Amino acid sequence: MYQFEYHKASSVDDALKKLGGAEDGKILAGGMTLLPTMKQRLAAPSDLIDLAGIADLKGIKVDGKTVTIGAMTTHWEVHSSKEVQKAIPALSDLAGLIGDPMVRHRGTIGGSLANSDPSADYPAAVMGLGATIKTNKREIAADDYFKGLFETALEDGELIVAVSFPIPKRAAYQKFPQPASRYAMVGVMVAETPSGIRVGVTGAGPCAFRVPEMEKALTAKFSADSVAGITIPSDGLNADLHGSADYRAHLVTVMAKRAAATIA
Ligand SMILES: Cc1cc2nc3c(=O)[nH]c(=O)nc-3n(C[C@H](O)[C@H](O)[C@H](O)COP(=O)(O)OP(=O)(O)OC[C@H]3O[C@@H](n4cnc5c(N)ncnc54)[C@H](O)[C@@H]3O)c2cc1C
Repeated sequence: MYQFEYHKASSVDDALKKLGGAEDGKILAGGMTLLPTMKQRLAAPSDLIDLAGIADLKGIKVDGKTVTIGAMTTHWEVHSSKEVQKAIPALSDLAGLIGDPMVRHRGTIGGSLANSDPSADYPAAVMGLGATIKTNKREIAADDYFKGLFETALEDGELIVAVSFPIPKRAAYQKFPQPASRYAMVGVMVAETPSGIRVGVTGAGPCAFRVPEMEKALTAKFSADSVAGITIPSDGLNADLHGSADYRAHLVTVMAKRAAATIA
């Protein structure tokens, strides 16, 4: 690991000030992705600005229509929250499938979304449930947030403060885990949201995406059979030693079918 300066921020404004004052500063959330990258000398930030002491960024609020989760809320807190389990059980299920207990207790929803790993689970939830990413500057709709491989709409110096999920009528997440890492080879969130049926996919492509044909078919008839015959093109999908693009395309249909079957 290269040398760096460590700073503990006391508020969002303090974090932004410290970030702005650093030569090549990076936000530190759970450190589950950032620290291994630094240990391998793949990243060498001059300064780390730790958000762990900012109480405003933690916690879960549920009102009649929305679940809002602070950026520094851990995967374990989302999974074990009785309020999330009641309002959006699929989101609690998804958080419980992330990594291992250590990752779930340290990793945060804000860190995961800022990182936008192509195989991370939360992107399927954000896309499938039609969530809104709240930053220090603005609100970004899920459909506008994911831009490509590890690429999001976040600008330099922009901080995720919370993520807000409209409470769906019904939703389910199904994940085919990569057997060694437990990341998603493919994960699909199917949801009937206040603005209609949405199908959000992670793991298959460079970033999360929706499948309009499946959404249309489920709107016409909400059943697993409605998506069983819909295959997505494999062009541009991820391919690695764990699975080809064709395999991932096939998994999208299988996971969508399983998710729809769970809640149909
Ligand atoms: C062994 C292992 C297994 C894992 N398995 C899974 C899995 O199955 N599914 C899954 O989804 N993930 C998995 N992960 C990733 C895990 O969910 C991480 O927690 C997540 O990717 C990063 O979150 P973090 O809070 O640790 O962020 P950090 O590592 O601290 O930060 C990640 C990046 O986001 C930036 N950042 C952090 N917070 C903010 C913010 N609020 N605003 C703006 N930028 C910010 C940082 O500067 C950094 O660039 C795994 C990780 C490990 C180590």
